[in-house]
Parts: sequence; structure tokens; C-alpha cells
Amino acid sequence: MSNHREVIIIGSGPAGLTAAIYTARANLKPLQFEGYSRGGQLMLTTDVENYPGFRDGIMGPDLMEEMKAQALRFGTEIVTKDVERIDASSRPFKLWVEGTEFTADSLIIATGANPRLLGIPGESELMGRGVSTCATCDGAFFRDKVMAIVGGGDSAMEEAGFLTRFGSKVYVIHRRKELRASKIMQQRCFDNPKIEFIWDTVVDEVLGDGKVSGVRTRNVETGAVTDLPLEGFFVAIGHTPTTAFLGGQLALEDNGYLITEGKSSRTSVEGIFACGDCQDHVYRQAVTAAGSGCTAAIDAERWLEDQHS
Ligand code: NAP
Repeated sequence: MSNHREVIIIGSGPAGLTAAIYTARANLKPLQFEGYSRGGQLMLTTDVENYPGFRDGIMGPDLMEEMKAQALRFGTEIVTKDVERIDASSRPFKLWVEGTEFTADSLIIATGANPRLLGIPGESELMGRGVSTCATCDGAFFRDKVMAIVGGGDSAMEEAGFLTRFGSKVYVIHRRKELRASKIMQQRCFDNPKIEFIWDTVVDEVLGDGKVSGVRTRNVETGAVTDLPLEGFFVAIGHTPTTAFLGGQLALEDNGYLITEGKSSRTSVEGIFACGDCQDHVYRQAVTAAGSGCTAAIDAERWLEDQHS
């Protein structure tokens, strides 16, 4: 197989696969490095009820399987390997994949982000069984239930408010006595009668056998340990975008997210485009990621056309 392509796509969540579908249909014969964590964050969710077109919902992994099949149908070449590093200093761009060098006229970066986890016992074991990192995805499964969310940022406040639409009560557990969230988001939560704050407190363990039955909390001031019964436990302590492999060659925001220009997917390096959660820390939905994958494919296609004319 030749190691040069007009377009190489890195990542295979909804953004990367949509970019693949569009570039493949534009006859650009994309090569996609889907990575070992192929399919992205949706592989970790259960029912997806808010992706348009599936009135009864669809399982996250099934949705990704459908997108991949669609990308393959139009001729995308998909390789299950991680890109270790790139050289964006000259064109064609160079990429290294397990020691093999590839070159591309244009690159689409769709490497996503990973929700940060607490790393406590029970958290990974009960993921999808009461533990979630996405209130928008999973909140509706906890109708009339007691839930808790950990974090003191805008995400935690926004998601706590969202969860009160379903749950009977939502605890916000925060490790300090001051929130990082914007004042307006804080006030909304303080005013919400279903939300109760638990300050100066960390969660040491998620409890439950097969599904979440509670969390073990510890007050960092007094050391008091309390078991809090609940059924839904949400972690909202931020995300880490997968951009470290770019080695600082593309402009990033302070929080590590790729900077794209205006409504486009153009990064700071001409010919490199970014889409999905590696450049979006605000919306972070499968459907917005897919939309931005389409944008990146069209941007890349038009840019390549300009190079040839
Ligand atoms: P964030 O602002 O980084 O907040 C993370 C929160 O998690 C902080 O309160 C932090 O506590 C806590 N935390 C981190 N590690 C922890 C740990 N190991 N144990 C317990 N708590 C931990 O992240 P975010 O809330 O996801 O927001 C990310 C960005 O998106 C921000 O710029 C935010 O403004 C933006 N955003 C905006 C909106 C909106 O405007 N509608 C909505 C969501 C997000 P400390 O405070 O003690 O560090």
C-alpha cells in the first residue's frame, strides 16, 4: 500500500467517521487511523436517545458500527492503529504509526477527548450501571431517583440542573467550599430546590453490586465518612482532549483544545483541519461532533481543490 494520501483522518468517533463518509464520497480515498480506542466516547455509553434518526434510540457501540460501515461502504480505508506523532512543519505532512511513516496533503484531526475520572474503587466497574460521565446522555434513566454529581465547574452546575428534570434529588459533591463555575451557573443551582451541595467532600468509593447503590464520601476538613444512598453517580471533573501527540505544532487553547478559525475547521496550520471534541469543549454531543466532521471534510475538499487549480 502506498503511504501517501490526499487526506488522512485521525480518530474515529462521530466526527472522524463523518469526515470519512464525506471525503470518501468526494472520491478523496481517505485513510483513517481509527486508533485502539476506536469509536470514541460513544463506545462507553449504553442507549443513545438523542441522535436524530433513531426514534427508539440506539446503543452507542451500534451507532458507531453503523457509521463505520457507512464510511467503509464509500471506500474509506480504516486502520486500527494510533498515530504516534506528526510533522506539520512542511507539506506533505508526515505521520508516524508504529514506526511506519505516512504522508498526506491534508489532515483531519478528530481525536476527541476523554472525560476525566476520579480513579476510585467501583467507578470503572459500575460505569454504565449507574456511573456516568455524561448527564445529557444518561440523566433520563434516573427518573424520580436520587443522584449525585462530582465537580464544581460549569459542567457540573449545568449537568446538575439538567439532572433535576428527572431525579427527585441531586447532590453536588465538591472538594472545596467554593465553586469554580461562573456566578450565574452557581446561582441557578443554589436556587434549585432539588439540588443540595455537599462541600469540602470527596468520594472515596462507588458502592453497589452490579449497579450503583450509593457512594462513600469523606469530609476533607473533619475526616467524617458517610455512605450516601443513591442510584445515579455522575462525574463532571473536566475532559482531556487528545492533542498531546501533536507536539505543540498546532495552536491550542490553554486547556489543550485545538483552536479552529471562526465557523471553519481550519487549524493554525494550513491544510490541517480539526473537528469534534478535540476542538469543542462546549457542546460535546455526538451530533455536533458529526456536524463538525462534515465541516472538516468540506473544508479539506475545498482546500485540496484550491491547491490543484
Ligand atoms: P473545569 O472548569 O475544569 O472544572 C472541573 C471541576 O472538577 C473543578 O471544580 C474541579 O475542582 C473539579 N475536579 C477536578 N478534578 C477533581 C478530582 N480529582 N476530584 C474532585 N473534583 C475534581 O471543567 P468543566 O466544568 O468541564 O468546564 C470546562 C470548560 O467548559 C470551562 O471553561 C467551562 O467554563 C466550560 N463550560 C461552559 C459551559 C457553559 O457556559 N454553559 C458549560 C460547561 C462547560 P476545583 O475547582 O477544586 O479545581
